[in-house]
Amino acid sequence: MSFDTEKKVITRFAPSPTGLLHGGNYRTAIFSYLFARQHNGQFIVRIEDTDRERSKKEYEENILESLAWLNLEYDALYRQSELVQKHSEALESLIAGGYAYISKEEAKDGSGIIRELVRFKNPGKQVSFDDLIRGRIEIDTTDLGDFVIAKSITEPLFHIAVVVDDALMGVTHIVRGEDHIANTPRQILLYEALGYAIPHYAHLPLVLDESRAKLSKRRGAEPLTYYRDKGYLPQAILNFLALLGWNPGTEKEIFTKDELMQSFALDRVQKSSGIFNVEKLNWINKEHMKLLTKEEQFRQISNYLPRQITELAEFSKEKLMSMNDLLIEHITSFGQIREMGEAGELTFYFAQPSYEKEKLFWKDERDNTMLTQRLTKVCDIIMGIDEKNFGQEIIKNALWEYATNEGRGQVLWPMRYALSGRDKSPDPFQLAQILGKSVTLKRIGHAIALCHG
Ligand code: GLU
Repeated sequence: MSFDTEKKVITRFAPSPTGLLHGGNYRTAIFSYLFARQHNGQFIVRIEDTDRERSKKEYEENILESLAWLNLEYDALYRQSELVQKHSEALESLIAGGYAYISKEEAKDGSGIIRELVRFKNPGKQVSFDDLIRGRIEIDTTDLGDFVIAKSITEPLFHIAVVVDDALMGVTHIVRGEDHIANTPRQILLYEALGYAIPHYAHLPLVLDESRAKLSKRRGAEPLTYYRDKGYLPQAILNFLALLGWNPGTEKEIFTKDELMQSFALDRVQKSSGIFNVEKLNWINKEHMKLLTKEEQFRQISNYLPRQITELAEFSKEKLMSMNDLLIEHITSFGQIREMGEAGELTFYFAQPSYEKEKLFWKDERDNTMLTQRLTKVCDIIMGIDEKNFGQEIIKNALWEYATNEGRGQVLWPMRYALSGRDKSPDPFQLAQILGKSVTLKRIGHAIALCHG
């Protein structure tokens, strides 16, 4: 795709802080950002807060927090409300040049109040532009009539504010959602009347949920900080959002930020909608979790582990470290460590579990003597394993023949239950390795004592 390479590329993200923005909104920021950075250009953030009633500081803060979390650094930050002076000057020059006029009109609310509006004198012509994604777009502006551009000289409305800001900030490429296509002809007319150079436009396809409906509160419309708080990795969210409406044309799906910077191409953005698929997000997050160094994985796990776990008697950093791979295998986001911890699913690793003796029986078995005998034999075999070699493969090899002869369920179920006190847990060999020889023996001893009791 060709564009003016002589001019430094400047893009912007221009959110309105009238609500919490969802992933689809940030996808726009990401494409804008990547395009600017690829061309050694600048990326500007402009908070469009001219709607005083609906704009809230907390939404603005959430936007800036989310951009920081995604690692999308910007070269400049503006607030539209601070630029009204510039909009007023533009309105005055349009009026002076005969491109706009003040119109006295009765308010539509039936109050009989006469208001002064600023209307643009629409030449009513065919406006066309070459959208970098959608190709040539032609729209007849006649039907738009003399549209309103300000409530008064000091109260600019959306179109004039956007055009003046973009022009003064030197924005060369306007990357935004396709819901703004209908606004573009009005804005181009304003560019022409103000004598500004018309920027390039790239209107992005919508982001829909899995049933092809608009993102809603229940599906996909959560703010990005929701995912941050659930322990998703920002690099994974960046990767996932970048693939909403864009693909590299290869099988590659996992991208670091640097790789996105290299591979992203505006002209490969598709016209059809991107689908916000939570399963895919989870898969991408997990792939990024696996890309972390062991140290970083451990740091994340430790961060999310609730106090109720770290305060347990048998808790140690070393033990937690030995569980690293096991935990990573089980989760799709680090926040699940907190959930598992709070749900009591991790307690047994660090404290003797309590359970009913009956739980030790395999299926319909109820023979106490046999159960005691088997657990005692398991103890004997484990006792014979050197503490230094207490690894799951060695433990398994040591027990396998006995378990196979006696019945695997009959031997391994009570062993696993004695170690975890839970119906669902990792296999007994892995458990034994994590718990270590002495705790393993202690817990099986506890089960034997229960049988005697
Ligand atoms: N503030 C507008 C919005 O949040 C975006 C304006 C633009 O990108 O031109 O939808």
